[in-house]
Amino acid sequence: MNSTIYDLLGLASAVCFILALKGLSTPKTARRGNLIGAGGATLATIIVFFAPQASGEKHHNTLLILAAIAFGVLVGVPAARKIQMTQMPQLVALFNGVGGGAAALVATVEYLNLSQDGKPSTANLIATVFTVIVGCTSFSGSVITFLKLQELMTTRPVVFPAGRFVIAATLAGTLGTAGWVIKSGGNTPLLVMGGLALLFGVLFVLPVGGADVPIVISLLNAFTGLTVAASGYVLQSTLLIVAGTLVGASGTILTRLMAAAMGRSLFGTLFGAFTAKPQEASGSTEVRSVKSGSADDVAILLNYAQRVVIVPGFGLAVAQAQHTVRELADILTAKGVDVAYGIHPVAGRMPGHMNVLLAEANVPYEQLVEMEEVNPTFPQTDVVLVVGANDVVNPAAKTTPGCPIYGMPILDVAEAGNVIFLKRSMRPGFAGIENELLYDPKTTLLFGDAKDSLTKVVNALKAL
Ligand code: NDP
Repeated sequence: MNSTIYDLLGLASAVCFILALKGLSTPKTARRGNLIGAGGATLATIIVFFAPQASGEKHHNTLLILAAIAFGVLVGVPAARKIQMTQMPQLVALFNGVGGGAAALVATVEYLNLSQDGKPSTANLIATVFTVIVGCTSFSGSVITFLKLQELMTTRPVVFPAGRFVIAATLAGTLGTAGWVIKSGGNTPLLVMGGLALLFGVLFVLPVGGADVPIVISLLNAFTGLTVAASGYVLQSTLLIVAGTLVGASGTILTRLMAAAMGRSLFGTLFGAFTAKPQEASGSTEVRSVKSGSADDVAILLNYAQRVVIVPGFGLAVAQAQHTVRELADILTAKGVDVAYGIHPVAGRMPGHMNVLLAEANVPYEQLVEMEEVNPTFPQTDVVLVVGANDVVNPAAKTTPGCPIYGMPILDVAEAGNVIFLKRSMRPGFAGIENELLYDPKTTLLFGDAKDSLTKVVNALKAL
């Protein structure tokens, strides 16, 4: 085959990526979109093997490349198969980081190769410097996000005294060494710059907590896309430029949408690390009482309600209680109760998490009500059933300046007549902060795994 055919195949692969994004825009076509994207990526990988020969170049290190692919498949496929739905964001964070890190490594190797024949061109140096800085930042930042999401480290913002000066100095050092690389070339400045960019990624994500984590995940995703696009320039690969630009553009759009939904400014999120101040520990050791109830108590409250709003959160996904919650909603609807689901944009651990879960249980789409629409209805709601949600209903977002979720719009469930929380303990949610609503006199706690609790409530309702 001549090189024109490979160019056309490259174009077909780029079209697959665009169709994949289009397909991923709605749950109905998402599976197909994913397959089309995987097809495009497979085609792109095959092209890389054969295209150089078509233009008369010799292919080097084929065995090493095949070994690397085999290793990636052996690690990636079982990991993706085994992972629980609730751990998907961590996996995405890790894959994203690995993508950014790989692009930075490839650009470094290409730079070392080119440097053997003298100083690379300025355009090439700028693209290399960009790829290494953003790729390394994305890699180390994603690793910290992974550790936070996997709860291997605190999910609260990590802020230390003079932290903002350290971050600013690290960024200035990274940019300074970038200038050094562009001006003089050489391997040492590039390695120092990569090291500083890795440190910057860590420092950039450590102060992020609560409401800003979802935004930072999609921001790092956009960073990786831009890194891949720049590495495409270094390697003269149109396909990498197209694929990277698509990821960069879609990641940027998603970041803006998430920031808008969370009431955050993109600027504030980007530069929050520079302005974060150490937080004072709450220091409260006071033991307060809460009102806990039985499944029978909850069933009675629900049975006599006219309107019930179910607020799903991360715990619904952990308990895999989506089918049971639908069964409960069906029973209540059959009894003439007006039932709706209040959906917060960042409930769970990934954008659209609750919509996906509830769609899996065939919850009627018209019962899913977005936050802006459901909030004005809480004063007319008799009972709110909070199933494994915490941060998204925590009034601290309105009342406690400086807390990790301050300013995030919440579901105003406190406005309803009664609030029932289904959770296993008094542990806080992802942001790691206490929820005053748990102590409110109108709140009842039903402790236990959400699926077990819902099953008991369903049985109690059937018996009424
Ligand atoms: P939270 O993490 O705030 O709360 C989850 C609640 O579920 C906890 O109270 C926990 O309490 C309870 N829970 C956990 N497992 C179970 C179970 N098996 N049965 C019953 N309850 C359970 O979740 P929210 O959905 O309210 O908020 C999402 C948070 O995640 C926000 O802070 C958001 O910023 C963040 N985030 C969101 C992302 C997104 O894109 N959506 C991405 C990354 C972070 P207990 O342990 O006592 O049971």
